[in-house]
Amino acid sequence: MIIVMRPGSSENQIGEVTKVLESLGLGVHISKGAEVTIIGVIGDKRVLNDVPLELMPGVEKLVPIVESYKLAGKTFKPEPSVIDVQGVKIGGKELVIMAGPCAVENHDQIVQAALSVKKSGAQILRGGAFKPRTSPYAFQGLEEEGLKLLKEAKDASGLLVITEVTSEKAVEISDKYVDMFQIGARNVQNFQLLREVGRSGKPVVLKRGPSTTIDEWLNAAEYIISEGNYNVILCERGIRTFETATRNTLDISSVPVVKNSSHLPIIVDPSHAAGKSKYVAPLAMAAIAAGADGLIVEVHPNPRCALSDAAQQLTPESFDELCKDISKLAQILGREFNYGKQ
Ligand code: PEP
Ligand code: MN
Repeated sequence: MIIVMRPGSSENQIGEVTKVLESLGLGVHISKGAEVTIIGVIGDKRVLNDVPLELMPGVEKLVPIVESYKLAGKTFKPEPSVIDVQGVKIGGKELVIMAGPCAVENHDQIVQAALSVKKSGAQILRGGAFKPRTSPYAFQGLEEEGLKLLKEAKDASGLLVITEVTSEKAVEISDKYVDMFQIGARNVQNFQLLREVGRSGKPVVLKRGPSTTIDEWLNAAEYIISEGNYNVILCERGIRTFETATRNTLDISSVPVVKNSSHLPIIVDPSHAAGKSKYVAPLAMAAIAAGADGLIVEVHPNPRCALSDAAQQLTPESFDELCKDISKLAQILGREFNYGKQ
């Protein structure tokens, strides 16, 4: 349930309502819009049966929420959320591109990747240190050594950095090295891990799983937000279908569907959707045209030698071409993109 306060209701009135809810053991989440304040109520609503909340000063109405997720939904927060990652704003007018290799492999590789993607307009460097691989014998990532290299690339380039966390231990180790966490497709319903990144408070890119519905995905976001971390960015990366021409099938419809149901920003990962570098740019353009707030793209200084996902990583040159095209598309769409301005 949400409680919609009257326009102009006072802090005092909001405080009184909050006090009543908390005294009954309910969780309270407040969303302050330009006009109205909305109070999200979490917990067993039966304790409210005899409490005439609608009669309290400043209360406009009580609205039940039919979706299973609440804080991630638009009923609770009608206006889009803009997530501020140390000055990089995701979900606003500007398109934000995260780019870098699938995995951190060595110092030169990650520093070269950082400097090249920055030149093309990326604002956030990606690089995996804990790699969730299908085969236990495949390269698993450099773990903390990789995080140190990622931090060196951050210092060399001035970019912010994001890395995937695959366990609670990985969250703990990564925390001091990175600016954002990525929850990978395979962990979208690892609820303990979701709660852990929720408690960390650090911005999280939450990938959609290969077979999660949009509703399940938004519930996964709800796990993070319900721990008090509102800094969630959704990421569509393709789902599993009968089609085998691409690694996954990019569900472009998820972009407008998410925009219709949630206030959270959504970005698209065309690399893991395509699985082949030649399809990455068209999917990236389609994603932006559909309304995505940005992209996360795999770029490697020498993709042929990559230790993971070699077939889908872009060269710095083809990434630069893509960014040039995105800046033209951004103009048509009335969005901003920083091609070559860094
Ligand atoms: C990745 O980003 O390298 C990755 C493993 O992606 P996903 O979780 O979408 O498969
Ligand atoms: Mn990858």
